[in-house]
Amino acid sequence: MPLTKCDDCGHDVSTRVSACPACGGPMDNASSVQASNSAGNKGKDGSYVTTQMTAKSLKLQQVAAILLLIFGLSMVFTSPEGNSPAIGGLCTLGGLVWLIGVRIATWWRHG
Ligand SMILES: [Zn+2]
Repeated sequence: MPLTKCDDCGHDVSTRVSACPACGGPMDNASSVQASNSAGNKGKDGSYVTTQMTAKSLKLQQVAAILLLIFGLSMVFTSPEGNSPAIGGLCTLGGLVWLIGVRIATWWRHG
């Protein structure tokens, strides 16, 4: 199993993984694998499958965050009297923060 040094912490890391197991930093080899396979669905080696699963879960989280955001907004604007709009506001805020967090995570892995 070929090893490479992590750019961030210098830990010996397998070239097949997409992120350093010691510090979680993205690995160069993974990003090149991801770039070359971005449109295809080859998935021959483990690193690509791992990257794809991560991207999939991030996409899923993004959808969930948007749903939470819409749910919160609809609660704010359609909340009947007595129903605390604070809950809707909290959902909106939570969804927004979540969405931004997912966006940053996506950007971090792709950048
Ligand atoms: Zn590291």
